[in-house]
Amino acid sequence: MAECLFCAIVAGEIPATTVLETDRVLVFRDINPQAPTHVLVIPKQHYPDVAALAAADSGLLAEVITAAHRVAETEGVSQTGYRLVFNTGAQAGQTVPHVHGHLLGGRPLTWPPG
Ligand code: 5GP
Ligand code: ZN
Repeated sequence: MAECLFCAIVAGEIPATTVLETDRVLVFRDINPQAPTHVLVIPKQHYPDVAALAAADSGLLAEVITAAHRVAETEGVSQTGYRLVFNTGAQAGQTVPHVHGHLLGGRPLTWPPG
């Protein structure tokens, strides 16, 4: 999709630090990390949010979540615990309209979130 930041990262037009790439999924480090491990897990294809992805291609959503867990393992946080967050909509703080899961780990995470 034109003008989409994460589509531009998928296209290689904007640099990012990739930690995992599959045929359909990309995982890269968040530019403003909120935890020792903070990566973004996205389908390469553009969907505006997780609900749209779930409705259109639940298999791809499963690939996104599987990739997140694989990275949690390689980052060494799968045993200590991690959080996978899909901010959806303005009030939840979604700022980039290309579905992305935040994988956060490597420190204790408080609940409820802010
Ligand atoms: P949201 O607020 O939509 O849930 O999350 C968007 C995330 O994208 C934020 O955590 C923000 O730090 C990250 N982000 C914004 N611009 C860039 C960028 O150009 N590169 C990378 N790697 N992350 C970005
Ligand atoms: Zn996009």
